Amino acid sequence: MDKCYKLQLRNKSLKAKLLNKDNVIILENILENEIRKFERLQKLKVNEKLNFGKKLSSNELNEIFPNICSQVDDFLDIQYGSVPRCNYFNLFSNDGIEKMTLLGYGVTASLFATFSTCYYINPNAEYLLNSGVAYLELFLVSLVHTTLKNNSYFMGDIFLKKSRRTDLIPVAGHEYAHHVQYMNDICSCNHGIFEEGVSIRTQNYLAEKYSEIEDNEAFIYFTSYRNVNDFKRVYRWMCKTLDINSNKNLIKCKSYFDLLDSAFFQPSNHALGNSLFSIYEAVNGKEIYKDVFQGEFSFIL
Ligand SMILES: [Zn+2]
Repeated sequence: MDKCYKLQLRNKSLKAKLLNKDNVIILENILENEIRKFERLQKLKVNEKLNFGKKLSSNELNEIFPNICSQVDDFLDIQYGSVPRCNYFNLFSNDGIEKMTLLGYGVTASLFATFSTCYYINPNAEYLLNSGVAYLELFLVSLVHTTLKNNSYFMGDIFLKKSRRTDLIPVAGHEYAHHVQYMNDICSCNHGIFEEGVSIRTQNYLAEKYSEIEDNEAFIYFTSYRNVNDFKRVYRWMCKTLDINSNKNLIKCKSYFDLLDSAFFQPSNHALGNSLFSIYEAVNGKEIYKDVFQGEFSFIL
């Protein structure tokens, strides 16, 4: 991938590609199918017919992780042969302390920059204190969110939240896809839609693959749940932005972000990327990622 190709992958460019009326119709079909699939899975779950499996130990995770990476390599058609470190997040491990120290330096530098700017704008002690407290609050909330609730990829290391096997395997693939992008030098806030789109679609691929191999639809339960949420949010936002009437039957399906959901708020990079790459898959097939990482896929819709 050269610099010029990477320009096409920037958030602004991908958002502009997504926002067109033809895509609304394609996304409507994708959402309709996903709702049907999720309702079927939901019934199986209620009747306790899905086997989500147990939580994996660290040793079991280390054993299975290289296999997950090689399946993602096949899907994205890349050959690295190197497997990044992958562990359950532990603040008190050497890795955890190392990363937190680095994060600490980053936060200190950001705080210094913020205070300096605030002081320059308004050298008033109360104003300065308020902005500092607000900044610290934001940092603590995001830190707790990151360490306790989320899985993450950080500069060559994957940290996972201990979860059931059927959720953990696809999520490990998602984080490994971030590693692949990091190795391809795609890791800036300008590429959030691309990064999350590719990683979530990789997660979906792995969920379907394991569901087939092990004949266990529990693997696709969470990805389907998330898809309904993402597609619905983006569909509503596209209809509102492009001034199109939305299909009320599709909107009334429940999803986990309903409280925050509004046609007025722009969806997250995760939801936008998942929807955009689902549309590309529907039009061009799942093989697109091979062309994407060769720098040959034409991002035209
Ligand atoms: Zn991600």
